[in-house]
Amino acid sequence: MINKRIYLDNAATTKVDDDILNEITKYFNIEYANPSSIYKESRTVQNAIDKARSSVAKLINANSDEIYFTSGGTESDNWAIQCVKNKNKKHIITSKIEHHAILNTCKYMQESGHNVTYLDVDKNGFINPQTLEENITKNTSIVSIMTANNEIGTIQPIKQLCEIAHKNGAYFHTDAVQAIGKLDIDVKDSNLDMMSISGHKIHGLKGIGALYIKKSTQLKNLIYGGSQESTKRAGTENVAAIVSLGLACEKLTANKDEQNYIRNLRDYFVNQVLSKIDDCILTGDKDKRLVNNASFCFANIDSKILIILLDKACICASVGSACTSGSIENSHVIKAIGVDDKYINGNIRFTFSKYNTKEEIDYTVSKLAEIVKKLRNN
Ligand SMILES: *Cc1c(COP(=O)(O)O)cnc(C)c1O
Repeated sequence: MINKRIYLDNAATTKVDDDILNEITKYFNIEYANPSSIYKESRTVQNAIDKARSSVAKLINANSDEIYFTSGGTESDNWAIQCVKNKNKKHIITSKIEHHAILNTCKYMQESGHNVTYLDVDKNGFINPQTLEENITKNTSIVSIMTANNEIGTIQPIKQLCEIAHKNGAYFHTDAVQAIGKLDIDVKDSNLDMMSISGHKIHGLKGIGALYIKKSTQLKNLIYGGSQESTKRAGTENVAAIVSLGLACEKLTANKDEQNYIRNLRDYFVNQVLSKIDDCILTGDKDKRLVNNASFCFANIDSKILIILLDKACICASVGSACTSGSIENSHVIKAIGVDDKYINGNIRFTFSKYNTKEEIDYTVSKLAEIVKKLRNN
């Protein structure tokens, strides 16, 4: 028996790391000076921001002055897509399985006179580089493809896709919100132009993120005002949140072995589920997937009901779907990978963190098997 809630929705958000929380509270009531002032207290705060910027940069092998703090992954994605300047070109390429922060920004760009191509993915969720070659034109200003998918965990061949974009005179942006810390990302090696990250998916605070902007990228300022973020994104800094993002990145750099712990838990869970529950498929690729993602489709199951019953059994899991005006629609990602009809309503996602234990996994597997059996017998 387990007598606490089990949190298996770490792709939605994560618990703030206790060490990080302890470190940042002083920025609310002790080191609260405005970093733009000139006295000693301000310099201390400015130094903390500088340190956070270099911690983020180090994790992805960027230069510090290429890291711009934003309010999160959504803002970073909007900035990259809406503000890129590439010789008045008006064609954008993205994929059918992007996060809504990209998809709805692209929809807005369409309404304001751009053409957008949404690339198909294969049954494991991969974008075939050949498909990008076929769709890119001399009028393509930017290609935006996520590093790894938030629903099914599939990891894209980013370096190769980026090369194709550059060969055709387009910029390349990637939403790495899910991938950061879980994969070794090297912005220089991959030659990326822009990359979005977010704090709350890596045990930092909500409402903080960053956009990596390579020096040569032409990007309009997002917010006009003071000189913060080199005048590109003005407004007094969210200091505590910025420091939380910096510390989260430092921890990821220092504790790479944590990812193996998470991967082992995940592999154990996937093997247990596939062996104990019939008529169940793992969505996404078996190998090229995020270490913390286990996503399935169960045949002849309505996963919205499954989620509710798991909730009653103290387990937090997620359906890869978005609520649209009160109704829950099927996931655009599951549609794009094209599962058989009997699986289409049965998709569910479990995402793990360093805080999960084998005991929690064992309990979850047994409850899941029990509930699926009950639902199928009804
Ligand atoms: C969570 C997420 C976002 C949004 O980030 P926020 O910081 O919540 O705005 C964007 N893209 C992906 C892939 C995500 O998982």
